[in-house]
Amino acid sequence: MGFDKRIYNFAAGPSMLPLEVLETVQANLLNYKGSGMSVMEMSHRTKVYQTIIDEAEADLRELMRIPEDYAVLFLQGGATLQFSMVPVNLLCAGKKADYIVTGSFAEKAAEEAAKFGDVAVAASSKDKKFTYIPKVGKEAFRADADYVHITMNNTIYGTRYPYIPDTGGIPLACDWSSGILSEEVDVTKFGLLYAGAQKNIAPAGLTLVILRRDLIGFAPEGTPLYLDYKTHAESSSMYNTPPAFNIYVAGEVFKHIKARGGVAAAEKSNREKAGKLYAYIDQSRLYKAPAEAGDRSLMNAVFVTGDAETDKRFVAGAREEGLLDLNGHRSVGGMRASIYNAMPPEGVDALIAFMEKFEKKEKLL
Ligand SMILES: *Cc1c(COP(=O)(O)O)cnc(C)c1O
Repeated sequence: MGFDKRIYNFAAGPSMLPLEVLETVQANLLNYKGSGMSVMEMSHRTKVYQTIIDEAEADLRELMRIPEDYAVLFLQGGATLQFSMVPVNLLCAGKKADYIVTGSFAEKAAEEAAKFGDVAVAASSKDKKFTYIPKVGKEAFRADADYVHITMNNTIYGTRYPYIPDTGGIPLACDWSSGILSEEVDVTKFGLLYAGAQKNIAPAGLTLVILRRDLIGFAPEGTPLYLDYKTHAESSSMYNTPPAFNIYVAGEVFKHIKARGGVAAAEKSNREKAGKLYAYIDQSRLYKAPAEAGDRSLMNAVFVTGDAETDKRFVAGAREEGLLDLNGHRSVGGMRASIYNAMPPEGVDALIAFMEKFEKKEKLL
């Protein structure tokens, strides 16, 4: 390695954080606002820390327009623990849930839920290697399902829902780990949204859960206390020691997004970045994006040359120029450029410039 400057990191997660946020965190690292200590060292039961978590929640509510009848929880365990907590808490009367399977994380979520109830796959895109998002209406779901689960952005395959499925009133639970805050959505269309923080928000170790309060309180008797949303909602995410430093960094990221025009401005920038990259891929003779055009992710652009050895040379060559971690997920190969909120437009421009140079060399244009 040996980079002496910041590089463009295209990793799927943990991934880039905004430079300005890192600088703010650095400037306040040893003495946070005159407290004489770092937020890392601070008791979470102090007034100064309470302000940090309260502001983080208030800023997130403002950014995503989260109404008061939704709880915002700062949890641990990653999106993966939500694969378990969602069924434990939301399966109630009939213990039935319908999952749309659009990738391996969706598959894992459905498999985990099947341990707790009757899980049906309402639709799947496995038939075409998860390169598209099934278009389903409310007739796809069992009328007595307790909830429907979707994975809004499929990090590994580079697809994204271009629509929010109509469930006919069944609560919609959604894994939005790799898309939260990247575009505007109407939170009230969901019963529950969850996201691991390490893609778009903060260091790994924090998980956000946004859920309608009327869905809280249905975990069956005998549910471990820590897995019950009620425990965390009733104590405002402070039942025990929360991931205090991560919540602080998340709060700084929220302030950063707010100061730059909110989610609408982030979405505009994300559409421009992804649009440029896909436009380049689509006109190229070397690269191809397997995802269907209307279902492509704004956050994870997957592309291939069609030859595994050429892909390897691409990834290695890019790394030498400070364009890091462009390899596709180990299960699919090829390339993947994760261009989350914090990836500056200049990073995408640098990637396209390298792609052009590499294509010229490979194709001897
Ligand atoms: C990264 C990711 C996960 C896994 O998150 P962890 O925090 O590692 O548990 C789950 N779902 C999606 C969509 C992801 O992008």
